[in-house]
Amino acid sequence: EKELLEKIANLPAETKDGRKVKVCANVGCIEDVKNAVTKYIDGIGLFRSEFLYMENTQFPTEEEQFEAYKEAARLCEGEVIIRTLDIGGDKALPYYPFEQEENPFLGWRAIRISLEKQDLFKTQLRALLRASAFGEIWIMYPMIVSLEELHSAKALLETCKKELLQEGKAYDEHVKVGMMIETPASVMCVEAFAEEVDFFSIGTNDLTQYLLAVDRGNQHISSMYNSFHPAVMRAIAKVIKAGHKAGIPVGMCGEFASDIKAVPVLLGMGLDEYSVCAGEVAKIKAAIRQWDYKACEELAEKVIRAKGLNEVMALIEDVK
Ligand code: PEP
Ligand code: MG
Repeated sequence: EKELLEKIANLPAETKDGRKVKVCANVGCIEDVKNAVTKYIDGIGLFRSEFLYMENTQFPTEEEQFEAYKEAARLCEGEVIIRTLDIGGDKALPYYPFEQEENPFLGWRAIRISLEKQDLFKTQLRALLRASAFGEIWIMYPMIVSLEELHSAKALLETCKKELLQEGKAYDEHVKVGMMIETPASVMCVEAFAEEVDFFSIGTNDLTQYLLAVDRGNQHISSMYNSFHPAVMRAIAKVIKAGHKAGIPVGMCGEFASDIKAVPVLLGMGLDEYSVCAGEVAKIKAAIRQWDYKACEELAEKVIRAKGLNEVMALIEDVK
């Protein structure tokens, strides 16, 4: 079976009737990029940069970050989507005291921290920009809820570009900038966001938690945490539709992208890229290759009209 999977991993992610999508890997460090066997993947769909920060004794310097991002770009032929620091929530730093919060997942985390600690953020943006001179680095912002946050992040990136230009340091002027769609607010206002970024990546881990008001880490209610809930299904469909209307690609880097049962409905909704952990790449490619896009589109049409979770599940189980 291992040989068979390896053979599949080498083939393109394409449906029987010729719809091509990308299968990328989620990584947290350079070792992960190496282990992802880059020849099997179309790119890195999510580089969780917080690990550079968590496995350190102080905030990583621009140079340290630059080396890591550059190495990732060198190892990977396709795009390397690097998410800016997503700390807070359930992730702490050993060398930085976070205030105790009653609701850490609704608290001081991710882009909120970056926009407040602008020096830290600029260090990371400068490192990302410099690495973009060496490969396909795409920059992605986490946990965006408002257009104003996106504007602030983009303005800071422009400031960094100007600085680097003055210092004579190289970067890709057209570096792609995108955002995670993982908050209900970003879904409700998705059309506005689509006009302002080069790509979306749907973070179903947080999106499911926030849409259903179900803590993603609470075992007691884990049976309620279900991304097939019609609210999540409709949110995903809405995001893909808005992205395509604006001419930008829409990927998914939450765990739901590696759910075998979700493959046909996501295909049918038009998802362009599945980003999964390296060990799941072959499995997801094999699943994609067994479907007809036409049939998946019909399934997706029905799923977004389904009234309840049971109805969604019945449709998913039924499709051939
Ligand atoms: C997500 O929320 O789906 C996601 C990919 O980000 P993380 O799991 O790191 O919060
Ligand atoms: Mg998230």
